[in-house]
Amino acid sequence: MGCCSNTGGNTGPFAEGRDLVEFVYQAHGGGLRDQAVPNNGLATICQGCSAKFTLTTFVGKCPACEGVHAVSPPRSGDAANIQFAGQSYRLPEA
Ligand SMILES: [Zn+2]
Repeated sequence: MGCCSNTGGNTGPFAEGRDLVEFVYQAHGGGLRDQAVPNNGLATICQGCSAKFTLTTFVGKCPACEGVHAVSPPRSGDAANIQFAGQSYRLPEA
């Protein structure tokens, strides 16, 4: 990927929560967020409403509550690394 080295601190692909979601959303000029997560996605449980769903792209929404979740490429091997942007968060309009 090249873009995703750890620059230290609490930004970039190793950020948490909403910071991570926004980082992935904007990465590659917006080109990363719709790319498929390897291995058919990550099965997870919505951190907002506890519905089961599969995160199939690096930024995805829970189908039940539209809660926004994201994972960064270097951390996409484990659903535990999925970050949740928060109950009321909505993605900025493209
Ligand atoms: Zn949900």
